[in-house]
Amino acid sequence: MDRSNHPCFNVKVRGSHGRVHLPVAPRCNIQCKYCDRKYDCVNESRPGVTSAVLTPMQAIIYLDFIFEKTKNISVVGIAGPGDPFATPEETMETLRLVREKYPEIILCLATNGLGLGPYVDELARINVKHVTITVNAVDPEIGAQIYSFIRYGKRVLSPEFGIKILLEKQLEAIKKLKERGVTTKINTIILPGINEDHIEDIAKKMSELGVDILNCVPFYLNKGSAFAHLPEASKEVVKKIRKKSGSIYPSDVSLRKMQG
Ligand code: SF4
Repeated sequence: MDRSNHPCFNVKVRGSHGRVHLPVAPRCNIQCKYCDRKYDCVNESRPGVTSAVLTPMQAIIYLDFIFEKTKNISVVGIAGPGDPFATPEETMETLRLVREKYPEIILCLATNGLGLGPYVDELARINVKHVTITVNAVDPEIGAQIYSFIRYGKRVLSPEFGIKILLEKQLEAIKKLKERGVTTKINTIILPGINEDHIEDIAKKMSELGVDILNCVPFYLNKGSAFAHLPEASKEVVKKIRKKSGSIYPSDVSLRKMQG
């Protein structure tokens, strides 16, 4: 398996290699205030995208059909429509089935990280080598402003209390992924007036943990979300933030450098 053939992690193959997302994760275990759950997870998709949810077996049939039609797919990912670890059984079953049928395909995951930790060992065992986690704050006071609730196990926790658990589980999972050599990307949503001056702290923390890429993503307005009133980050603000975090943690630029 040539791990560099991942278009989200290797800018050089963006034109030549494609990816397919399997929508097998219908539910989410947190509520980001910039998300309207009527649509797919906006950590990975633009607002307003809605996917039909598939069972693990349907996902394999769908994949066979895609591979018939499209020959340049190198990556199969699970990134929604909710969070893959709000329904871990379906997610892990799908990954096992894909790995069994397509031993050479790159498997990839995108998650908020809350429920990821307990599955890292098996993910590494079935060669899931690319994981993206959305970390929007490393300071609980700032984080508590970004989420309406966090569901941990059967408990629905207030943002003030839940954010401590979310952050703890995210950092734990990142450590585990890096210990097992999994390429780890962090997406951070730039939220004007909330975390825009905090992204350097996130970059420092992620750099300490040895994360491979930090991707600062501008927030997109989602009419039905709690942040529908928030202005989108201007191009200048996004550029400034990427430059600042880029001095600590290059994103695409480092990738280009890393790949020469
Ligand atoms: S992680 Fe956040 S953005 Fe993604 S589906 Fe859940 S609430 Fe929406």
